[in-house]
Amino acid sequence: MERKYASWPSKPVFRDPGVSSPLVATKQRRYDRLFVGGEWVKPSGSEMIAVVNPTSEEPFAWVPSASVEDAERATRAAASALPAWSATPMRERADVFDRIANNMDARVDEIASIVSQEVGTPIQRSLEWQARQPVTVTRLYAQLARRYRTDRALDNSLIIREPVGVVACITPWNFPLHQIMLKVAPALAAGCTVVLKPSSLAPLTAFVLAELIERSGLPPGVFNLVSGPGESVGEALATSPHVHMVSFTGSTSAGTSIGALAAERMKRVLLELGGKSASLVLEDADLEQAVSNSVDNCYANAGQTCAAWTRLIVPRGLLRRVEEVAVATAERYILGDPLDAATTMGPLVSANQRDSVVGYIGIGIQEGANLLTGGIEPPSKLERGYFVQPTVFSNVGPDFVIARSEIFGPVLAIQPYDTVDEGVRLANDSLYGLSGAVWSADTKRALSIARQLQTGQVFVNGGAFNYNAPFGGHKQSGIGREFGEYGLEEYLELKAIQLPTAADAD
Ligand code: NAD
Repeated sequence: MERKYASWPSKPVFRDPGVSSPLVATKQRRYDRLFVGGEWVKPSGSEMIAVVNPTSEEPFAWVPSASVEDAERATRAAASALPAWSATPMRERADVFDRIANNMDARVDEIASIVSQEVGTPIQRSLEWQARQPVTVTRLYAQLARRYRTDRALDNSLIIREPVGVVACITPWNFPLHQIMLKVAPALAAGCTVVLKPSSLAPLTAFVLAELIERSGLPPGVFNLVSGPGESVGEALATSPHVHMVSFTGSTSAGTSIGALAAERMKRVLLELGGKSASLVLEDADLEQAVSNSVDNCYANAGQTCAAWTRLIVPRGLLRRVEEVAVATAERYILGDPLDAATTMGPLVSANQRDSVVGYIGIGIQEGANLLTGGIEPPSKLERGYFVQPTVFSNVGPDFVIARSEIFGPVLAIQPYDTVDEGVRLANDSLYGLSGAVWSADTKRALSIARQLQTGQVFVNGGAFNYNAPFGGHKQSGIGREFGEYGLEEYLELKAIQLPTAADAD
């Protein structure tokens, strides 16, 4: 039976997309240049970043570790390209996007395979989430750029939207190309120029993108790529006098420090940060559907998803049945090599991430949560790789560390409630507010609960993900929105031109 996967990413977890899967490991890759001013340029130093395959624990690719000097060079290139690109009509920019999307589409198998090897996403999921999603996002921004109107009349004023300027895009590793295109596509469509700094854990698709862009006719300097450490290169971009806006996706701690640096310099920021989202099940819900979907959502990308529903909030009277479904769902996962089509959960991205997640599982046990399945031991039969067992805790108290922290691994916390009001309070009892879900046989009732949740998105009874709807955080999950028109407008600045009224003209 095909099981429906309710939320982002919006595809069924165990669906076979019916395409030939690129089960061939990518050969070793080495990029020793940065993409700046339309050229592949030598970095100022010779230091390289090794990209480790989390399944084999071996490095399989290398990219330059750029310096602050390289970052400054890239921001100068972006600043030089800004006047011409920002003056290009938005509809003309759309044509370049179509070419980028088509070129990307031709390489989806390769992109999926790369991300499976650097992040550990199972190959079938990688094709959908890591490779095809960025193509979809790029195409949607091409379409939007063709129909978007930057000017509108208001009384005696002409209200226009202009490109913000040079944008530093700093991105994470969990959905590397997807997170990149959610910034690069709207920023370029708006008429901004870009310097991209990808995560050092999964930088390879950023280099593939630079290759695609090079062949797509984008003018030199409009898109620039520097790879390197966040603390040096990322901060240099965030503080550069050439940069007008910092668009950041990553942890709340790094986002807070970038936000402070940008605020001191009065730069615009877009911050897409962490989450600890709740799936709230009402007593009249289809329990099997609600619980199995919530577990699948929590475990997507081995739990390394910002919007994952990592808390499952359920009526106390139904706790026993909820636990049974949750355990059965968790134990169906097949851990293994992400390039094996049968695998449904790969390793975590790095040894540090594995250690951090196992540490949280240990804390959950010490706090007295009820460990139903999984645990701190490595999964049996897997001798290598940063794997963690799919883990379910029940009877998790609202003050437990595992109920409050973003764990970013396959760890579900079940929290029982006695009244629906208490369930809503539990769902909202978080520093974060990125996503969430409500399940009820009565959609109207679910909708009224959805209105009470303090999060940027809520999915009612497994509603599908909408690529045109705004995505972003309340509270410490961030500032600003991505996707669709909302994402585009983050990169546009408002100007009001006051025109003489007929009376003034007399
Ligand atoms: P991270 O914060 O460690 O790194 C993100 C990026 O910021 C990387 O490129 C890194 O090099 C850079 N960076 C780190 N410290 C920096 C600093 N001081 N100055 C400038 N740049 C810096 O996050 P991560 O581990 O790559 O990603 C996981 C996190 O991202 C999770 O918290 C997850 O919830 C979040 N995330 C959020 C969304 C969203 O849309 N809200 C989407 C994906 C991931």
